[in-house]
Order: sequence, then structure tokens, then C-alpha cells
Amino acid sequence: PQVQLAKYSSYHKIWLIILFISITLVTPLPLENLPLEGQFSFEEINHAARDFGNRYQLPPLAVLHPKSVSDIAKTIKHVWKMGQGSDLTVAARGCGHSLQGQSQAHQGVVINMRSLRLHPIQVVVQNGVVQPYVDVYGGELWINILHECLKYGLTPKSWTDYLHLSVGGTLSNAGVSGQAFRHGPQISNVHQLEVVTGKGEVVNCSKKQNAELFHSVLGGLGQFGIITRARISLEPAPQMVKWIRVLYSDFDTFVREQEQLTVAKATFDYIEGFVIINRTGLLNNWRTSFDPQDPVQASQFSSDGKTLFCLELAKYFKHDEADLADQEIKLMLSQLSYISSTLFIAQVSYVDFLDRVHVSEIKLRSKGLWEVPHPWLNLLIPKSSIHRFAEQVFGNILKDTSNGPILIYPVNKSKWDNRTSVVIPEEDVFYLVGFLSSAVPSSTGSDGLDHILSQNKRILDFCESGRLGVKQYLPHYSTQQEWKAHFGPRWEVFKQRKSTYDPLAILAPGQRIFQKSL
Ligand code: FAD
Repeated sequence: PQVQLAKYSSYHKIWLIILFISITLVTPLPLENLPLEGQFSFEEINHAARDFGNRYQLPPLAVLHPKSVSDIAKTIKHVWKMGQGSDLTVAARGCGHSLQGQSQAHQGVVINMRSLRLHPIQVVVQNGVVQPYVDVYGGELWINILHECLKYGLTPKSWTDYLHLSVGGTLSNAGVSGQAFRHGPQISNVHQLEVVTGKGEVVNCSKKQNAELFHSVLGGLGQFGIITRARISLEPAPQMVKWIRVLYSDFDTFVREQEQLTVAKATFDYIEGFVIINRTGLLNNWRTSFDPQDPVQASQFSSDGKTLFCLELAKYFKHDEADLADQEIKLMLSQLSYISSTLFIAQVSYVDFLDRVHVSEIKLRSKGLWEVPHPWLNLLIPKSSIHRFAEQVFGNILKDTSNGPILIYPVNKSKWDNRTSVVIPEEDVFYLVGFLSSAVPSSTGSDGLDHILSQNKRILDFCESGRLGVKQYLPHYSTQQEWKAHFGPRWEVFKQRKSTYDPLAILAPGQRIFQKSL
């Protein structure tokens, strides 16, 4: 019997060992034990629960500071292997300049994309390359790319108004500014991407290689993969910029001429505009950065509390081309019918022009006004609806005041690739209208958060009830039903792409489009 017992226990021992090995293999390592070059932080990570919008705060479980693409791949693969038994999600965070928690992951992993900066930005100009390009990491800031490219006399073509944003963050949306009428958004100026999918696979993609993934990721709101590298198209850089502002009191004339400029052969390099509501002192303020062409008349101009429309233009040039630029500007301006006493021109360097919003950021930060709630609303409005929209919104909902700049400028659909994930209106020309409001914390007045949010809702309700065909840019919805309506006929494709590249819905949970199913 003793021999029997010994046999019995060694038999059991073997089974115990097998059981232990299989449990170890099946049970994933805790995050902190993953063999990475970078590391996880589990403490003092509350900054990853904040963003520019300053309204949503969802604390993560951990923040990953990757030192390699493989760190990101291993982490996602780890979460992928945990399968549906775990509710762990992963969000890439560029700078957290999102508005409603899009770069947050509640009790999940936030990947600090800024820490992935292994190699310098690589500008490629020669070796028979017809078009120059730059290879950058997904967490790189556009301002750094600009400075690096300028060393080679080159520049990216399409920008955002503010350059302290990450490449991965803007390419997940679209990246739109006053150059988009000519070059399209930033997502139209990318040759190639390296992406880590929701299964932890590292995939290179372009229009020719893995094209479906390439198009999915561009404008894909972070749903299909994390952009770890991007190849961006470049062109020769100018050195200087003539920066022009003129005012209109008539909306119809303003939009007609703004649109004409976007299709004219000889035109400006940058075309934007904004709406000025009840700001009589504005022209005097511009004196610090712009020269009025007719100082006496400009100082006598009064808006009488009216709503005005500012056309903002820029002409790029090289140092030795200033006279030619002046002549071209004169000719182009002579065809416009703005209020003649309101012509303001400034001459600035190309970098200062592109980095102009950063100057405001520094000022606002010094007054503690940068980190306030930002209930921004960005809309893409079809040309056929823009007059109705303006009449109701600028003539009624916002007729007395606004709580920040209101941008308005047209772009051409032909410059947008309809295979990407971004949703745009169904017309050849549409307008970007951005209500870039700041709220005064704890105010209950017209500059308070609640008031601005209710104005935003009135604007959205009007668009919906009037069937204006408007789409949100940097979209935000709370239910999948609303997301379906946003995507319209493209919803099925978007869903199909999700099930191919991130079937467990691990990525970018802060967009609230898909929920990880348990
Ligand atoms: P984050 O806020 O960190 O991330 C945004 C989303 O992208 C999140 O869902 C995140 O998970 C995902 N993401 C981040 N990195 C990656 C990556 N590498 N791969 C995949 N997904 C990723 N936009 C314009 O188009 N035009 C403008 O002129 C413009 N001006 C702006 C001015 C200011 C002052 C601010 C604050 C924003 C502006 N934006 C503009 C909006 C900007 O494009 C978005 O905020 C965008 O999200 C970029 O910010 P970010 O790099 O901080 O991204």
C-alpha cells in the first residue's frame, strides 16, 4: 500500500505541476511585469484624466511611457490576450487637447505618445525622391516638425491653426486649417503609416499596401490602431508671410468672395475667416499686431454693435519676392468688396504666422485662462445651408455676444479622400464653422458653462430640425444611436473596420463609439 501511495502522490504532483504551468500560461502577467523598454506609472497619473475641454475626468489604471513601438505592441497584445474576461482598454494620448475625454481610458491604460521619441525627425529630400517627405513618430508635435523641415528649406503643406498638437491626434481627426482649400486636410497629405492594431500587430500601410487599414486609421478617431509613425508630404518653404484681415458687414458678400478666392487660379495661400459679434473695440486691439492701411479711417470705423465678418488671408513669399507679393496682393484685393477702411496687413515670418495661436496660449496661461472649460463646437456645413445657418445662429442664437472666436471658412470636398474614416457633408463645398468658446468657471451668467452648452444645443437642434446636412467635426456623442446617425450610410463600413482591426473594442474608449463587451 505504501508503494501505491507513493505512486498516487507522484501522479498528483505531475498533475499539479501541469495545472500550475497552464495557469501561469493562461493568466496574463500583471502590467508591471511586462518586459518593456519603457515603463508603467500607477501613481500620480491624474494628468491623464484631463484634457483641453476640461469637463471630463476619467482616471486611468496606469500610464504607459513607451520607449519603443514594441512596448506599445506588447501592451496591446497583452490586453488582447486577456480577451473578453477583462474590461481593460487602451487610449493613445498625444497632448490631450481633446475636448470631451477622447484621449482618456477610465481604469484602463493611457499611452503617453510623447515619450516615444527615439529617433530624430527624418527629412528625405534626395535619392531620386520626386516629392520630399518627412518621417515622424506618432507622438511628435507639428511645431517640432516645422522647425526640423525648415532646416532643409521644406515644410508640410497642410496645417492646423495651433501646432502644439500631436501627429497621431490630428490624423485621427482630419487636421484642418486655412490651407485645406488647396491641399486638403492633413489626412490628405500622408503617404504612409505604421500602426499598432487592436490585436497588437504592427502593420505598415499606405494607399498601396494594406490600404484598408491606411484609410480606416485616417480620420478614424483612434478606433482601429495607434499611429506610431507617419510619412508626411513636404513642399519648398516660404520665409515670410503677408497676413491680411478685412471686414465685411454683409454675410452674403463675405461668403461669396471667400468662396471665389478658394477657386481662383491666382489666390492666397491661406484663407480663413471669423465672425465678430458686438466687439466695437476690436480694430483698435488689432493695432498691436497689424498695420491699418488707412490709420485715420480705421480709427473712425465703428461697428455700432453690429455683427461683422472678417476675411483672414495670407500670402507666402521668399525674402527677395516681397515686391512681387505686394503686387499680387494688391490685384487680388482690388477684386474684393470689403469695407475699405478695414484693411489690415502685417508682415511676419512663416514660423510666427503658423505658430500664431501659441502666442495667445502664452498670454492666456499667464492669466490662468487656458485651463478653463472649453465647450467647443465644430461643425461642417454644406454650402447650400450656410445662409440659413448664419441667419439663425449669428442673427438670433448668438446675436448679442460670443464667448470666444467663431471661425468660418470653406473647403472643397475634392481635396478629401472619401475612403478615409472622416465624415463630411455631401456637397462639393462645405464650411468649417468653429465656436471656440471658453467658459468662466463657476459663472452662472452668459459666460458660464451651462449657458454656452445650452447655446451649443440650440445650434445643434436647429441644424437637426432644419435638416441642414451638418456634420460635427471632432465629433462627440453619448449613444451609439447618435454615432450611427453621424456616420449615416458609412456606419456599416466603420463597424466592419472595427471588427477587423480592433474586434474587442480595446482602443480609444473615450470616443464612446464602441464598448468593450464582457
Ligand atoms: P489627443 O487629444 O491626445 O487625442 C485625440 C484622439 O486621438 C484620442 O481619441 C486619442 O486616443 C487619439 N490618438 C492620439 N494619438 C494617437 C495616435 N498616435 N494614434 C491613434 N490615435 C491617437 N484641429 C484642427 O483640425 N484644426 C485646428 O485648427 C485645430 N486647432 C486647435 C487649437 C487648439 C488650441 C486645440 C486645443 C485643438 C485644436 N484642434 C484643431 C483640435 C485637435 O486637432 C484635436 O484636439 C486633436 O485631438 C489633436 O490633439 P492631441 O494631439 O492632443 O490628441
